[in-house]
Amino acid sequence: MSERRAALVTGSTSGIGLGVATALAKAGMDVTLNGLGDAAEIERIRAGLEQEAGVTVRYDGANLMQADACAGLIEAAIGAFGRLDVLVNNAGIQHVAPIEDFPVEKWNAILALNLSSSFHTIRAAMGHMKERKFGRIINVASAHAHVASPFKSAYVAAKHGLYGLTKTVALEGAQFNVRCNAICPGYVHTPLVENQIPDTMKARGMSRDQVIQDVLLAAQPTKEFVKVEDIAGLALFLTTPAANQINGAALNIDGGWTAQ
Ligand code: NAD
Repeated sequence: MSERRAALVTGSTSGIGLGVATALAKAGMDVTLNGLGDAAEIERIRAGLEQEAGVTVRYDGANLMQADACAGLIEAAIGAFGRLDVLVNNAGIQHVAPIEDFPVEKWNAILALNLSSSFHTIRAAMGHMKERKFGRIINVASAHAHVASPFKSAYVAAKHGLYGLTKTVALEGAQFNVRCNAICPGYVHTPLVENQIPDTMKARGMSRDQVIQDVLLAAQPTKEFVKVEDIAGLALFLTTPAANQINGAALNIDGGWTAQ
């Protein structure tokens, strides 16, 4: 039997990460899930996906705020499946506040998870991928890797940084058949977006509907949220042979937001 590909998706107990992990599993890859949350609910997701996709799905609850935990996550995934072909750095958090009130600990946490954790996972995976002459690294960045919004200093800084990291890794892996790209979504209605609505209401003195229409979807010309499945489809495409020459790219999937 030919070996199945093995994938790891960080922050895949919810939202975009879970959608990407589901698409990769359904395409026949063994998958490591990662993320925080209720243990029973995560086990339900893991077992359900394993059964539905007919692949092996494991879960690793590494908290990616710590460098050692990021490296440990990669080592355990390689140990479990004997290989790591696809690494999707997706875990991320948000905090919305004017910079003069932005809590320092929130800045540190967002930089640690949304930027540094990808450095640490890639650092731990790169040698293995280069040696095997195969690797597909996908960093889930954001339209905020290109443009800013007020009150999101840490998130915008981290996502711009993640695109820089993506380009650097793309160059380092280029001759080893290791590809690294960023996916840059506009607004997707996931818990991460839902959770920032109250803070944005407070920061801007707006109602919930005003925040959705006038802030979240204001810059998104389609006036529709991007779907988790749209992002999952793009991530899956980046693992196929048709995408072999896509390297160091930031693929916008934002309804035209950054075309403006
Ligand atoms: P989400 O809140 O639904 O999921 C975040 C995931 O990260 C969860 O699985 C959570 O458990 C995990 N996580 C949080 N802290 C963690 C930690 N310390 N260690 C390990 N895992 C941790 O969010 P989402 O909207 O699906 O966002 C996923 C990614 O997509 C993020 O990087 C986000 O910045 C990016 N993104 C989201 C949107 C959007 O509109 N939702 C837009 C652009 C980019």
